Amino acid sequence: MTVKSDYDQFVSAQQKLQQHPMGHFFFEQERRYVKPFCLYGNLHYVGDNWVCAHILDTGAGLILFDAGNIGATAMLIQAIWEAGFNPADVKWMVLSHAHVDHIGAAPFFQTMFGTQIYLGAPDADLLATRPEWSFLQDAGDIQYQPFRTDVAIQDGDLLTFGDTQIQFYLVPGHTEGCIACFFDVHDGNETKRVGYYGGFGFNTLQKGYLCEYGDADFSMRERYLASLAKVRNQPVDIFMPNHTNNVNLLEKREALLADPTHNPFVDETAWGRYLDEKRNALVAFMNDPHQR
Ligand SMILES: [Zn+2]
Repeated sequence: MTVKSDYDQFVSAQQKLQQHPMGHFFFEQERRYVKPFCLYGNLHYVGDNWVCAHILDTGAGLILFDAGNIGATAMLIQAIWEAGFNPADVKWMVLSHAHVDHIGAAPFFQTMFGTQIYLGAPDADLLATRPEWSFLQDAGDIQYQPFRTDVAIQDGDLLTFGDTQIQFYLVPGHTEGCIACFFDVHDGNETKRVGYYGGFGFNTLQKGYLCEYGDADFSMRERYLASLAKVRNQPVDIFMPNHTNNVNLLEKREALLADPTHNPFVDETAWGRYLDEKRNALVAFMNDPHQR
């Protein structure tokens, strides 16, 4: 090995990442920065223009919902400061599921601030025993290490964080340990119910994926449908997304900033509408001859 051959190897690894279907997500992530904003009362948006992250101020510490993409930790830290909070006050981190684009800052917060990490029990197990299914390798960051889950969330858990109680469910489908959760947020004397659903993508329901994962009869698709049905009728005033396209977050953000007297994120029909849309899309996907 020489200095020159080391460098050439580095460049070829970079080129390989650029050509990977997910590769572009890990270059120049700062271009996806979104100026944080108050989504409602004590709930703030600190994600980028693709993958969401939210801060909930519980009055006795902050909860960070999702930790951004691997490689985007500095950006998340900037967003938390710009939202008016100190990242060191993030006492708890609730992860929607264990994929590369939602867990990026988890090891940093765990080591730097002692943040307690909450993850659906099946995904905690996956990360500990089969971390390749978290796709850490897709980020091309060889420094990145799987982190320790402090609290493995079980279906039906009702947990307290400061002044906030959160009702958790496991909603297997996109991953086995995806979580959904429900909690109240406050703006002055007004209270709204938030609903969060931890993963909608069908990328993990593809025929080839499921065969390699060890689900040759595609049972995960049925479990996904059952998960949607399980939480479909929860009363939700504010649908908190984990990717911006779930709720057209960027457009709604613009509308909210233009007219703060009308909050487009408060919409009690959004949750049910989107879950129904996903159910119909999944049924169509399951009937696609290429996926059987
Ligand atoms: Zn995912």
